[in-house]
Amino acid sequence: MPELPEVETTVRGLARLLDGRRIASVEARRPDLRRALPVDLGQRLTGARVTGLSRRAKYGLINTDRADTLVFHLGMSGHWRVDPADIGKHDHFIIETDEGRRVALNDARRFGSLDLIRTDALESWPPFEALGPEPFGLDPRDLKRRLAGRTAAIKLLLLDQRIVAGLGNIYVCEALYRAGIHPRRAGGSVSLERLKGLVPAIAEVLTEAIAAGGSTLRDFASPDGELGYFSKDFAVYDREGQPCGCGGTVRRIVQGGRSTFYCPQCQH
Ligand SMILES: [Zn+2]
Repeated sequence: MPELPEVETTVRGLARLLDGRRIASVEARRPDLRRALPVDLGQRLTGARVTGLSRRAKYGLINTDRADTLVFHLGMSGHWRVDPADIGKHDHFIIETDEGRRVALNDARRFGSLDLIRTDALESWPPFEALGPEPFGLDPRDLKRRLAGRTAAIKLLLLDQRIVAGLGNIYVCEALYRAGIHPRRAGGSVSLERLKGLVPAIAEVLTEAIAAGGSTLRDFASPDGELGYFSKDFAVYDREGQPCGCGGTVRRIVQGGRSTFYCPQCQH
């Protein structure tokens, strides 16, 4: 499943093709993904100029000079194909630029979404309204306030998009490991000092993953190039039973129905 680093690298890759370009045509090849596509998508996007791309949580944002923002979510399996040689049955939405370049949103499982939102109304758009701050530039004191009094496990609270936006299972596991914080510790009991270690650990694991993904963008211009997925090396994630650098063994527990990986010797 794409997490924040995959979305960020996807946005950066798409920006190379789309930023500043005029949209010559769009083609919606089915009426819906997870939810219905806007019926006026083609009318509002055709002829518009792309004025910038960015990311909010795990959403990609494509702004246009018509004060609309195309918002995409990759769901479980979504990715953009660049200049595809042929269009397959899972290519659901295609943008062609005035340079004749094409990008196709391919999503076999269709858990992704495409929405067209007035740019000045983005903050009050329901999926964005309740989102917490981005994990980059997080203030440890603000995080402390958000966690205050909470008895739920820190692992689960960090996955709550209202507390921090865009964090997923892999990077929460890795950041807690780096910060030496036990995933089952009550969120409200984590001291400010330890949060001052956790906040940079979150930024580091994400930044490293984005850098690793960025290197795959060399293939960007190749036919059927696919944006956004890359292999990564993790310290604990998906490493149950394997050794930690401390000499201990990585363990797996289930929290909120999802696997948590951690080192019982390093994390308290
Ligand atoms: Zn360890």
